[in-house]
Amino acid sequence: MKTSIDPSTQSIAHRAIVCLSSLLLAFAASSAAQAQAPAPDSPAIEAKAHAMLGKLSLEQKIELIGGVNDMYTHGIEAIGLPSLKMSDASVGVRTWGPTTAYAGGVGLAASWDPELARRIGEGLGKDARARSVNFLLGPGVNIARSPIAGRNFEYLSEDPFLNAGLDVPFIEGVQSQGVIATVKHYAVNSQEYSRHNVSSDLDERTMREIYLPAFEAAVTKGHVDAVMNSYNLINGVHATQNEFLNLKVLKGEWGFQGILMSDWDATYDSAGAANNGLDLEMPNPRFMNAAGLVAAVKSGSVKEATIDDKVLRLLRTALRYGFLDHPQFDPADSTYSVADRAIALDGALESITLLKNDGALLPLDPAKIKTIAIVGPNAWPAVTGGGGSSTAQAFEPVSTLTGIANLLGPNVHVLYAAGLPEMNELFWKSSWDGPVQVANYPSADFTGTPEVSTAKNLSDWNFNGWEPDAKQPHSVRYTATYKADKAGKYLIIAATGGWNSAQFTVAVDRKPLPIPPHAEGQAPQSFTLDLAAGQVIHVVADYHPVANPHFGLAIAYEPGLISEEAKKIAAIADVAVVAVGFTGSTESEGFDRTFELPWGQDALIEAVAAANKHTIVTVTGGVGSDTHRWLGNVPALLQIYYPGQEGGTAVADILFGKHNPEGKLPVTFDRSWEDSASAKYYYPTPGADTKLHVLEPNHPAVDYDIPHVQYGDKLMVGYRYWTTTGKHPLYPFGYGLSYTTFSFANLQAPATAISGTEVAVSFDVTNTGSVAGAEVAQLYVSDPSAKATRPERELKGFEKVRLAPGETKHVTLNLDARAFSYWDGAAHKWTIDPGKFVIHVGDSSENTPLHADLTIN
Ligand code: BGC
Repeated sequence: MKTSIDPSTQSIAHRAIVCLSSLLLAFAASSAAQAQAPAPDSPAIEAKAHAMLGKLSLEQKIELIGGVNDMYTHGIEAIGLPSLKMSDASVGVRTWGPTTAYAGGVGLAASWDPELARRIGEGLGKDARARSVNFLLGPGVNIARSPIAGRNFEYLSEDPFLNAGLDVPFIEGVQSQGVIATVKHYAVNSQEYSRHNVSSDLDERTMREIYLPAFEAAVTKGHVDAVMNSYNLINGVHATQNEFLNLKVLKGEWGFQGILMSDWDATYDSAGAANNGLDLEMPNPRFMNAAGLVAAVKSGSVKEATIDDKVLRLLRTALRYGFLDHPQFDPADSTYSVADRAIALDGALESITLLKNDGALLPLDPAKIKTIAIVGPNAWPAVTGGGGSSTAQAFEPVSTLTGIANLLGPNVHVLYAAGLPEMNELFWKSSWDGPVQVANYPSADFTGTPEVSTAKNLSDWNFNGWEPDAKQPHSVRYTATYKADKAGKYLIIAATGGWNSAQFTVAVDRKPLPIPPHAEGQAPQSFTLDLAAGQVIHVVADYHPVANPHFGLAIAYEPGLISEEAKKIAAIADVAVVAVGFTGSTESEGFDRTFELPWGQDALIEAVAAANKHTIVTVTGGVGSDTHRWLGNVPALLQIYYPGQEGGTAVADILFGKHNPEGKLPVTFDRSWEDSASAKYYYPTPGADTKLHVLEPNHPAVDYDIPHVQYGDKLMVGYRYWTTTGKHPLYPFGYGLSYTTFSFANLQAPATAISGTEVAVSFDVTNTGSVAGAEVAQLYVSDPSAKATRPERELKGFEKVRLAPGETKHVTLNLDARAFSYWDGAAHKWTIDPGKFVIHVGDSSENTPLHADLTIN
C-alpha cells in the first residue's frame, strides 16, 4: 500500500505527534485538560501555500472558493493545484457503482465500539482513495432528537458524548488513509422538515451541551480537516453565514484550521458567507463568485485577506495531504476488498440489538428446525441503508432471507413470502366506485381553469402521458368514491416519489386525514378507517408535484392485504421470522419519517404471530417505531437498523447463536411519537415566521419564509428527559439483551476530588452466564447540588467489554473536568459547581446497579 501522505511535506502523522506532545504538555499543566486544537502546519507548507497564493489574481482566488461539477473543487494548473474530488459518505463511498456498504450511522452507534468506528473509517478511507476521492463527506454526527427525523439513520445517537466517542476514531480512520473527512452538518440540523428554510432556535447552553460536542471533539480531538455547514438557520441566521458558530466557536475557540464547506446549495449571501467563515461554496458558486465578491473586495466590504484565508486553507490542506504530488488513486488500491467485507460483517454483528426474547426463544437451535418461514417486505432483497445522498449501492448485499438460508444449509425447508403486495400494485388495483376525476390546474394552488380527465385509478406512480413543464407550476386534484363491500378495517395509502419536495394532502368525506405537517418533502402515509358494509366514502387528494411527478393513492381492506401464502407458511413452520421496517423510500434524507411502520406491516406481524407462536420480528430502521399493535403477541424482537451489505449474514448468526447479540440502543425507544421529549417542540411556532430577502448575483431577488422551531425541550433530549421525569420509555437508551448475563460489582471512586482534576472510576464486569458475550459498561454522572437545573444523569463514560463465561474484567474510566461541568449561560463558560455528584454504572440509562457519591471541592 502506498504512503498516502507525502513525507516531504508535514505529514498528518507528524501533525498528530505535534498534537500529542502538546496534549501531554497540557496534561502536565492540568490533568483535566481537554484535547487541543490542531497544531499549525509546518513552515515549509506555510511558505509553499503563500507562494502559490501570491501567483493568483483576485478572480482566480474567488474561483477556488466555489465548487464545480457538483462534487469537485476547482483546480488551477498554473500553480499545480488539481481539482479535488468529493464523495458521500458515512455508510459507503457513493461516487460511482457498487461499493462496500457498512452498518454506518446509527448502526455504528449501536455498537458503542470506537475501535469499530476506526476500522469502518479506515475501510471507507481506503475505498474512497481507490476511487480518487479526496474528501469523504462524512461522518454525519447530528443529534437524533426525534424519532421521526428523516436522517437519524445516517447520524449516530441521541447523546453528544457517545457521538464524540465514535466520530473521533472514525475521522482518524478516514484521514489515516490520506482522505479528508468532513464532519457534518454543522449545526443543530436534527430534522428534515423544511430543511432548507427552518431556523433551529435554541439557547447557547443547549447548543453547547447537546448539539456541539460531537463537532468539538471532531475538531479538537479528531483533527478533522473539513466541516460541512448545515442547510438550516440557527437562531435566524443560516449556518453558512453564522458568525457565532463559524468564527467564534469553530475557528476561534476550537482552532479549526481546515476547510468549512457549505451543504449543497445552502449558501444565501455572498459577503455574508465570505465574512462569516464559509471557505467553500458547494456544489457551485452561486454566491461566492466573481459577480458577488469582486466588487465587494474592491469596496472593502469583504477584505481580500478574508478571501486569502479561505484559499490558504484549501492550499495548505492539499499540500499536507500531498494532493499536488501524486494522484489520489494508486494502482495498489482496491475497490473490492474482502477485508472490508469482514469489517462490514463485524459492524452488522455489533450493532443488531435484541430487544425482547421471551422464554429464551433465541438463540434458535438449527438442529431442531425443519421448516422456517421468512416473511415480510424487508426479508428480500437486502435493505442496506436509508435514502438520499448517503445511499451506497453494495456489491452483493446479503438479505435476511439469503443469510438465514445460507446458515441453515440444504436440509432445512426455507419458505418465503413477501406477505404484502407492492405499493405500486395497490395503486392500480384499488377498485374505486366509478372513474377517478383528475383536475390538473395551471397553478401551484388549485386556481385557474384545470384540465379535467378521468382515470381508472389513482396511480400516477410510474407516470405516463403527463409530462409537466418543470418551470410551469401545477397542482392536481384527484376525486374518487369508494364503496366498502364488507365491514372492517381499511387502509388508505398515499405516497409521492421519494427524495423530492412534492407534497400531498388527503380528505375523506371532506375531513382531512391527520397527515403530519410537511414541508419540502413527504413520507408515504397510511391511515386506518373503520368502514361498515356498503359504506361509501368520498376521497379528495391534492397533490403538488415538483418535477417528475409520482403520486399514488390506494384503498384496501386491511386483512386482505396479507397474502394467504404468508399465513400458510407461518402456520406450518417451526419458527417464523417477520422482516419489516423502513427502506430508502420510507426513511430518507429530504423528508421526515413516520413513527408508525410503513403501511400494512403491523397487520402482517399480527397475522404471522397469530399463525405461529414462535414469531421473531426484525425491524429495519434508523430509530424506534410504533410497536403497540403487536409487541405483546411476539416473543422476540430485534432492531437491525440499516445493517449494510452483510446484514442478512449477521441476522442469521445472531438468530442461531453463532454470534451473541451485543448492540445497545443509541436512542431511546418511545411508545408513541407524542411520548417523545421533542414532540411538542418539533414543528415551527405558528405565526413566528420571518422573511429572508436573498439576492443571488445576476438573479432576481427572492423572499423566503423562515419558519422558526423553538427547541423548547432544551437539554431534555432522549434519556435525559426520561430519567429526569422519572417516567419510563418502551426501551431505554443503552438497553440491549444478550444470550448471557452480566453483573457489575466493586465500584471504586474517590469520595472527594478537587475541581478540575481527573477522576478515575473503576468497577468489575463479570459474565455470569454460560456463553461468551460483550457488555457495554455505561457510566452516568448526576449533579444534584448544581445551581443550574441539570438532567438527572448524563453519559460520561462507556467501555465495551468482551468476556468468556465466568470471566471478570476490571474496567477503569477516567472522568475529565467536562464530565462534571455544565455550560453557564451567564458566564459563557463551562462551570463545575462544587458539591455532591453521583456516579452510576450499569448496562443502560435506567439500569445502573452501582453508584457512588463524590464530592467535588
Ligand atoms: C446532503 C449532504 C451531502 C451532499 C452531497 C446534500 O444534499 O445534505 O449531506 O453530502 O448533498 O451529496
